[in-house]
Amino acid sequence: MAHSSKRYSDGERLVELPLPSSHADTQNRHYRVAILGTGFSGLGMAIRLKQCGEHNFVVIEKAADLGGTWRDNTYPGCACDIPSHLYSFSFALNPDWSHLYAPSREIWDYLRRCSRRFGILPHICWNSELQEAYWSEDDQSWHITTSQGRLTADVLILGNGPLSEPSFPSIPGIESFEGTRFHSAQWNHNYDLTGKRVAVIGTGASAVQFVPLIQPLVANLFLFQRTPPWILPRGDRPIPAWHHTIFRLLPIAQRMVRARIYLRQELVALALIHRPAMLEAAMKLAQHHLEKQVPEAELRAKLTPNYLLGCKRILLSDDFYPAVSQSTVEVITERIRQVRAKSIVTVDGKEYEIDSIICGTGFHVTDAQLPLRIRGRGGVTLANTWHDGSRAYLGTTVAQFPNLFLLIGPNTGLGHNSMIYMIESQISYILDCLHMMDRRKVHAVEVLSEIQEAFISEMEQRMPGTVWASGCTSWYLDTRGQNTTLWPGFTFEFRRRTRHFDPLHYHLNS
Ligand SMILES: Cc1cc2nc3c(=O)[nH]c(=O)nc-3n(C[C@H](O)[C@H](O)[C@H](O)COP(=O)(O)OP(=O)(O)OC[C@H]3O[C@@H](n4cnc5c(N)ncnc54)[C@H](O)[C@@H]3O)c2cc1C
Repeated sequence: MAHSSKRYSDGERLVELPLPSSHADTQNRHYRVAILGTGFSGLGMAIRLKQCGEHNFVVIEKAADLGGTWRDNTYPGCACDIPSHLYSFSFALNPDWSHLYAPSREIWDYLRRCSRRFGILPHICWNSELQEAYWSEDDQSWHITTSQGRLTADVLILGNGPLSEPSFPSIPGIESFEGTRFHSAQWNHNYDLTGKRVAVIGTGASAVQFVPLIQPLVANLFLFQRTPPWILPRGDRPIPAWHHTIFRLLPIAQRMVRARIYLRQELVALALIHRPAMLEAAMKLAQHHLEKQVPEAELRAKLTPNYLLGCKRILLSDDFYPAVSQSTVEVITERIRQVRAKSIVTVDGKEYEIDSIICGTGFHVTDAQLPLRIRGRGGVTLANTWHDGSRAYLGTTVAQFPNLFLLIGPNTGLGHNSMIYMIESQISYILDCLHMMDRRKVHAVEVLSEIQEAFISEMEQRMPGTVWASGCTSWYLDTRGQNTTLWPGFTFEFRRRTRHFDPLHYHLNS
């Protein structure tokens, strides 16, 4: 196969590499590893592979730029809600975060810098959507079809992201709306909101960030709320320049700050998982925050949650309540019955004339499309295997899917700490597996179904008693009401269990 090559700088070394950047480059080429996605998962995996001396890999990315979540979410006010010192790679600390919670653009720039610094760009195949991947018993490899062509790989690693497929509400008539309509993860920057009558559907993590920023611009903001979120004070602040200097000169200082944040966040897990009663204090704090910021009793009642804090994602904001208290904002708790050409009608018959709709309605999490396109042994799709709930051993490997690894697979999500900690744990597990395969000349690994089943029943047994099983509805739950999204433990337990790849848990094919 024809492919170009280029010399590029990878830290100290210069490495000769093929450039899989177009159709011709990847067509029918074989790689040791194919990685899907260029968010924290895919990039992190690629960087660690390279650091371990593995250069024969390709990164498949459907977009024309890297960054995943932080490329796509450009809405006003978008930022992380885990402090940036922790929400970053452990092997690439950034001493220069501008704020405690860095804005999305800064996180995106950080990922771009990481990919340049570690020489990942030449491995990325852009504009290349994975359309199908199947495991071939004949040559013990994955056959992958992308919008740019075909390739094969010994190992396929999915880093397609749990929050990368925007979910739109299915409301009668919404397709016939004649105004402008978009999702918060696909913000329409060409549309000027100034002076418009805007409907925002949803009061989740994204809406709580963008509503305060658009409220001063719009003429009217109709906020359609299904369930009020619990909101704690955010306390964001700029990080002073002298901190940057210290972190640059003394990286250990930043590691200590990181460790302190990590331990503080882990304490939250104690309450969420083992002692929901401990959440009382946090609920009082949130209640006080609401009372202080929303003087009007009727509005306050609408914004008061009636479920345990933590059952849905806990949000942080200092400006959401003041924004929705403005006279131009109406919080509507009636269900939407219908969308008309220029209005929204609620079940009580009230009609709201609007120019635009912004959907802050989250993502397809437990019903994503990609599993339909991944076929394991015997042609079975991942979607079929997951018909009764998506499950994977340690959220990473699936019986009947040899040499397939998931990053942020089922039961690896968190309600309290940095997802990058989980991603890095999984990456080290996969690397350990690849080393074992090299050492023992193993071609394929497949988790034993009894090991996977034991893990699944452990997850099921650990969920009751957690705050997530306390009776609210949330995107953590699938259609059967099962929580297949979150890790029901401390993150250091997950790290311990993924530290070493145990070959006894797998079929090994030499
Ligand atoms: C607004 C927002 C704020 C968040 N804040 C936090 C936070 O503060 N702390 C935290 O821990 N987590 C946060 N998260 C969760 C966040 O998604 C994860 O922390 C992390 O960024 C996920 O990285 P990822 O690489 O797994 O997925 P993503 O970043 O979603 O990247 C997936 C990549 O795969 C590509 N892809 C998907 N399907 C295909 C396909 N078929 N073919 C080719 N390419 C494909 C996508 O284009 C994308 O580039 C937030 C999420 C959102 C949406």
